[in-house]
Amino acid sequence: VRLARPAGKEALKGFDSKYTLAEVLGKGSFATVHRAVSRSTGQSVAVKVIRKKRFAALPQASVLFRREVEILRQLEHPSVVEYVDYFEDQSTIWLVMELVPGGDLGELVSEQGPFTSDDTWTRIIVKQILEGVQYLHSLGITHRDLKPENILLRDDYAHEEPTAKITDFGLAKAISPTAATQATFLQTFCGTLSYLAPEVVAGSSSYTPAVDLWSVGCVVWVILTGTPPFMGTTHAEVSDKILNGRIAWGDLDGYHVGDDAIAFLKGLLRVDVKERMTLSEALNHPWLGGTVTHPPIKD
Ligand code: ADP
Ligand code: MG
Repeated sequence: VRLARPAGKEALKGFDSKYTLAEVLGKGSFATVHRAVSRSTGQSVAVKVIRKKRFAALPQASVLFRREVEILRQLEHPSVVEYVDYFEDQSTIWLVMELVPGGDLGELVSEQGPFTSDDTWTRIIVKQILEGVQYLHSLGITHRDLKPENILLRDDYAHEEPTAKITDFGLAKAISPTAATQATFLQTFCGTLSYLAPEVVAGSSSYTPAVDLWSVGCVVWVILTGTPPFMGTTHAEVSDKILNGRIAWGDLDGYHVGDDAIAFLKGLLRVDVKERMTLSEALNHPWLGGTVTHPPIKD
């Protein structure tokens, strides 16, 4: 039998009784992430604060937020942000995670400019992202929202030994309504189309974990050039470029992108899923020090 408690006491059992909210670390399409300090240990954590009111018109949003928590809770990998705690009341969800203090990859690239493909740092970061994705896929989880803003870094400078962590499981393995609703939902919620695989943009209901590999290709493009491979002034323009795989390969000439890295990008940014590099091909690619060559690609 559950006894009614005074509201004040109930509230004290919640987030505020355990943590003190501090500055904002970042904002995404869903939530605001703050630093917070544990009242008992004094340790800093990150907390993703989701105000339910903002999503009142979307009944599936609450389901997704809880799914995000459920997914993150089961994960344990050096390339995935660590779950700490979770609180919920009528108006708010607090998802407490480890603090990854270097900020996200999008910020780093916009502050420090693009990295060269022969930089050890670049290759370690890409390898770590792929290892994180491999771990997720091994559990049957597709992230579906990999982009520079969702990749966190331990250090705010490009050190020799970086640590990258995947975060934001808000769209991971989301509900599968009809293809059309799903595509609309993704396009509404992702602040940008830029990293979505063509099969997602096309609204295919049967897409596979390979969507994450396409996104990794886009992320690598950003690391090496500072901007995403698909840009435009309207959604229609960007969609069209993605669906047709219209990529300005010539743009890479202006940056330090070696042949191995170009081959790596060409392997991932394939519209045809059957031709797209697999995770193990990517992890064993010569650019990352491996020896597996993807079958030559006809252009
Ligand atoms: P949304 O679902 O709204 O996109 P995210 O989970 O992606 O929210 O978080 C938004 C931003 O907050 C990220 O892009 C990043 O800059 C920052 N952030 C998120 N989690 C952490 C964390 N654990 N440590 C440090 N910064 C974080
Ligand atoms: Mg995000």
